[in-house]
Amino acid sequence: MKLRKDKIKIITLGCSKNLVDSEHIHALLQAYDFEMTDDELKADNILINTCGFIEAAKKESIETIVKAVSLKAEGKIKNVYVAGCLSDRYKNELEKEIPEVDKYFGSTDKPNTISGILSELGIDYKNNLIGQRTLTTPSHFAYLKISEGCDNPCSFCAIPIMRGRHVSKPPEQILTEARNLASKGVKELIIIGQDTTCWGLDIYGKRELGKLLGDLSKIDGIHWIRLMYAYPSRFPEEVIEVIKSNEKICNYIDIPIQHISDNVLKSMRRGITRKNQTKLLEKIRNEIPEVAVRTTLITGYPEETENDFKELINFVEEYKFERLGVFTYSNEDNTFAANLPDRIPLKEKINRQKTLLEIQKNISIEKNKESINKTFRTLIDRKENNYFIGRSYKDAPEIDQEIFINESGLKTGEFYDIRIFDAEEFDLFGELEKKL
Ligand code: SF4
Repeated sequence: MKLRKDKIKIITLGCSKNLVDSEHIHALLQAYDFEMTDDELKADNILINTCGFIEAAKKESIETIVKAVSLKAEGKIKNVYVAGCLSDRYKNELEKEIPEVDKYFGSTDKPNTISGILSELGIDYKNNLIGQRTLTTPSHFAYLKISEGCDNPCSFCAIPIMRGRHVSKPPEQILTEARNLASKGVKELIIIGQDTTCWGLDIYGKRELGKLLGDLSKIDGIHWIRLMYAYPSRFPEEVIEVIKSNEKICNYIDIPIQHISDNVLKSMRRGITRKNQTKLLEKIRNEIPEVAVRTTLITGYPEETENDFKELINFVEEYKFERLGVFTYSNEDNTFAANLPDRIPLKEKINRQKTLLEIQKNISIEKNKESINKTFRTLIDRKENNYFIGRSYKDAPEIDQEIFINESGLKTGEFYDIRIFDAEEFDLFGELEKKL
């Protein structure tokens, strides 16, 4: 039986879904009297929640594990535990390669991973802390995970291998968690899942994301609801109406399209054509006032020809996304695309990525200049040097732009009307108009 006084540090890598899992495990361990620490040199045990999505993420996870086991070798910590997607996907290889780890577990969305970690620490896990989390984000915003896994067959993606099939969280569980978060002072809920648009299909036989967003907006204390990870194919279009008509739901949508050419979309098995994807994106743009559309693209996919890439360049220049992320294709074992010859050299993949990011930089400055003299309801995230730094409805935390405000006396976690007086490619500068 391990001493309950053991101090534990959780290291979370990868996406916001992993973060939510770690926040849940953190609350569980605290509930069972473990002391949590952020300082690895004060910890007795380190739990690493890994990411196994693409090459770069896998490399970071392995480096983190190696660093932790070297602390163990130096006698600075007692135990190293590894969980999450990388461990789920490569458990056997990892056990051989880095045997110094005390135990490897599966991805942290699985109940047996949680119970496994707790029993390893001498705890008999009782599933009574559903929805309890120790927030690791600033206390005024939180990620709300509404589903696990994914049913989509995207050729390049290993997530379904690690996280399994799509499972919607029951509505009452989601609403309970959201109310708990609101009671702790959370004002912004960021809706996440592998494919949020699929929510409800396995419960009601139809996609009910629109209804769920509406129900979440009825919770007192929640001011902003932000939709992330929407999948374009079979997109439940009533969601557009819900976003448009409900002032608590930000006029913002993160909808990764990955590409635009029919040739590549078909090979990627995205289940949508250029025509239908463009129609959906235009409908979102035309129907939701001043909407901020975020997307992600992949460059250097095995079947991407020069013409396909030119088509993508033209589309990015035409549609002018407000927010854009571009990744280079990563050849992932056991995915459908892994059978395709990865013929585009890394250098060329990166060149294409740079080309798109350069185009986006120009689009971003052009759009940011249009914000000058406009006033935005701004949520203050933090203070840094002389600036308070916040976000408007157009920006998700950590991945999008920020507003810098050189004022005194603002409060983190509060909303203010901020008038923009200057703009850079990816940031805005503003002054206080009034506190809200
Ligand atoms: S939607 Fe596609 S890319 Fe996203 S998690 Fe599912 S399979 Fe992967």
